[in-house]
Amino acid sequence: MGKRKLIIFTGPSGVGKGTLEKYLFANSRLKLKLSVSATTRKPREGEVDGVHYYFISRDTFDACLADGKFIEYSLHFDNYYGTLHSEIEHISKQGKIPFLEIETNGAMQIVDFYKKHNKLDEIVSIFLMPPSLKELEKRIITRNTESPETISKRMEKAKEEIGYASMFDYVVTNNSIKVAADEVKAIIKKEFKDFFEQNKHKTQEIGRTS
Ligand code: 5GP
Repeated sequence: MGKRKLIIFTGPSGVGKGTLEKYLFANSRLKLKLSVSATTRKPREGEVDGVHYYFISRDTFDACLADGKFIEYSLHFDNYYGTLHSEIEHISKQGKIPFLEIETNGAMQIVDFYKKHNKLDEIVSIFLMPPSLKELEKRIITRNTESPETISKRMEKAKEEIGYASMFDYVVTNNSIKVAADEVKAIIKKEFKDFFEQNKHKTQEIGRTS
């Protein structure tokens, strides 16, 4: 358990990953840092390069891929997304826990990568499950940003993703965002117990020497 280094957070599009993260990141004691992914998607209004994503061209994405810079990547509704090895290293060096919010296919690639390198004990993977498919559809429709055709594509993909939920360490159902966030917090506190202990000592040492 002492080796834990990384959190993978996944679940179907529209399940509420982003909203739940706001609760988690509001708690600075959890020492989480969101890993910024690279994407070929165009920025949405208010999104900032290097903060929400590294917005890159398809050519640059392909070059990074060829150079082995991604730990995983995925095509998601016509756009490429990928996690850079360098991003994870950078966050770990800051003494923080890298938190990867990625879709299910990419999440499974990371699980496979760590399994292949005999390092499964370094990651904790969490799948956020909608209370039901009906409820997920309602949430996607309420977001009001998708055409009926896209909604049915998202629902198809969601069904496929839910079928893989058991591949992950934890499945948390998002009935109520607050309850689900508390459940995820409890998982992090338990799984990263040693990390928090070590950090407490470090902070005490810093306190003594300064
Ligand atoms: P959005 O375009 O709405 O920001 O994200 C679409 C989907 O891409 C979300 O499900 C999000 O979790 C996923 N995603 C974001 N970054 C990555 C990444 O680095 N790798 C993979 N595989 N998926 C990602």
